[in-house]
Amino acid sequence: MKLDEILAFNEKFVENKDYIPYVSDGVPSKKLAIITCMDARLIELLQKAINIKNGDAKMIKTAGAQINNPYGSIMRSILVAVYALKAEEVLVIGHLNCGMNSMDPNKVIDSMKDHGISQETINTLEHTGIDLKDWLKGFNNLEDEVLRSVNVVRDHPLIAKTIPVHGLTIDPTTGKLTVVTNGYSIASH
Ligand SMILES: [Zn+2]
Repeated sequence: MKLDEILAFNEKFVENKDYIPYVSDGVPSKKLAIITCMDARLIELLQKAINIKNGDAKMIKTAGAQINNPYGSIMRSILVAVYALKAEEVLVIGHLNCGMNSMDPNKVIDSMKDHGISQETINTLEHTGIDLKDWLKGFNNLEDEVLRSVNVVRDHPLIAKTIPVHGLTIDPTTGKLTVVTNGYSIASH
């Protein structure tokens, strides 16, 4: 069981005070909010590649680094980072070879069925107006998608125009960043 393994490790981690190098308060010292993908290749690589250490930034992770709903939990987290936790810049960082790029929602739905979710349940949801295929679909072009998500933040009525919102991509192997859109040219001073 993975949980048992995690708990056993954790007990030693705390006992040995291995947390000491990571102690910091909750205010991001680099004043950044970063929205990126949940991809496992980015767990350590992203932080190393952009020189972010524990305590430096608010990290918001979601599949594909996509911000779809202007009033969903990702956007809510960004607003909290900016207005309650003093983040001054927002970075949306998508990555090459993202699983959400060209993801087929039908395959996800098939996998749900393999796990015992019935067609009836799926039909019921669709009858209540939830378009599962649309909800689960990925994106076609990484740069376009980063820009689209950046614009959800930039155009948000509750985001001050003075907050720069940048869009980037990262190579999940080399850590190389590419700027899709630089927020300084758009934010007002
Ligand atoms: Zn991804």
